[in-house]
This record gives sequence, C-alpha cells and structure tokens, in this order.
Amino acid sequence: MTTSSRMPVVFFGHGSPMVALETNQTSRAWGEIGAGVPAPKAILAVSAHWETRATAVTAMARPKTIHDFGASFPKALFDMQYPAPGDPALAQRVADLLAPRPVAMDQGEWGLDHGTWSVLVKAFPKADIPVVQLGLDVTLSPAERFDIGRRLAPLRDEGVLIMGTGNIVHNLRTMTWNAQMGPAFDWAARFNDEIRDAIAKDEPQRVIDFARLGRDAELSAPTPEHLWPLLYILGARGPGDAVRFVNDRIEYGSLGMTSVVLEDVGAAARDAA
Ligand code: ZN
Repeated sequence: MTTSSRMPVVFFGHGSPMVALETNQTSRAWGEIGAGVPAPKAILAVSAHWETRATAVTAMARPKTIHDFGASFPKALFDMQYPAPGDPALAQRVADLLAPRPVAMDQGEWGLDHGTWSVLVKAFPKADIPVVQLGLDVTLSPAERFDIGRRLAPLRDEGVLIMGTGNIVHNLRTMTWNAQMGPAFDWAARFNDEIRDAIAKDEPQRVIDFARLGRDAELSAPTPEHLWPLLYILGARGPGDAVRFVNDRIEYGSLGMTSVVLEDVGAAARDAA
C-alpha cells in the first residue's frame, strides 16, 4: 500500500476471459493489485480489445458489459456483468488533455469489453468505481501511443487509476493448449525478457522500437494490439516510479501473463519522512 497521493499505473497481462470465472494464481494477483492501490476515484482503461479509427473514449453514464469473445465460451461467461458506472466528466478531461488531437466521445457503440472487465471483476469486484475506456486508434505509431500516455499522466494526481490491459507476448496460433504451465517458446521468453528489462531500466525507447527485435517480435506480437496498451502505461510513468512485475510468466508457450505496476514510491517515502 502506498501513501502517495499519486496513483500508480498498471498494465495487466489478461490472458483468457475464463480467468473472470476462475480463482487461480492470476486472479488472486489481480485482486492483490486492486487491494494494494489507493482507492481510485475513477479508472481509465486502455484495452487491447477496442480498436478504433480515431482515439475514442466511452463517454456514457452507464457503459454496457460487452461479451466480445467466441460462442464456444460457456454461458456463465456471457451472463457476467460488470455494472460499474461511466464517468462522462473524465471522458471530457481525457479529450482536453489530448487536444488538439481529436477524441471521439462514444455514447453507446462500445462499453466495457472483456479486456477490461475480466480483469476488473477480480481487481475491483464491487464494480462501484466509474470506468472509462480509451480506444486504440489503429493508425498511430508506437511513439504516438507513448505520447498519449505522457499527456494522460496528470490524471494520476487526480485520483484516476490508468490501466492497460493486453499481453506482452500474445500469439494464439502457437499456444500449446495442453501445457498451461509448460515451457515458453524461446522467442517468447526472449521477447518477454527484453521488454521486461527495458521497463526495469526505464528505457521506454526499447519498447517503442519493439519491431527491431525482428523474428522474436513478429512471433510474440504477430498483431500488436495486445502490446499497444503497454506503451500508454509507460508513457504515464513518472521519474519517481518504482516498477513491480506480477504474474511474470508465459502460459501455453506463447501467452505472456506479465503485469507491470508502476508506483511513485519516492512520494510515499517523502510523505513518511
Ligand atoms: Zn485479449
């Protein structure tokens, strides 16, 4: 628990939506992250599952729970709801911070997708904290995503928990479904190690330039939308932030579960002094 008034920023490695129904190592760690941060006034979630043609935010007072996954998942998962309120004022604040970049105010087309709610049902199970989602403009470069995160960083001093939800390593085609805790592919382990090392050393350019990792990047992020939320989170990082890795493992050979918590421990230490 930090005593800093500056909120942490968190990247959640989210895995299968089934985690929402389960109690396991992953879900328990998400619960600990939620319980360990100061109570947020609101949550701004950057989800891998909302790809847009312009930067967009959910601006409605009552975002719906979206069940954006295949019909093969059980009915119990489709029945799940995460009835957190929206926060139109926060949506407007995001637009103001990103100006002059245009921000589309979504009034009902989207809502909370499973990238967001499958994590939040474990991290903040009461669903009483307002949530706004930020869409991933597919036309942006990695550097532009990092810059959006940098512009959103002031929200941390306004009680807003900025979270990203995706995966550092996300290759569904190569997953070995019968070996959840089995060995990671070499390329997946190398990519995860490289990204984690860059974060640990606060060298975000190494993450922005992830494509330089060639074949390891092509296999670990064959489509980059699950990695993109991490760039926003790193952009919101402050100089006093300590980094903590949670669930730092790769499941099914090529599904990275690593979460990243960035906390302003410097301010906490100053508060305590
Ligand atoms: Zn996903």
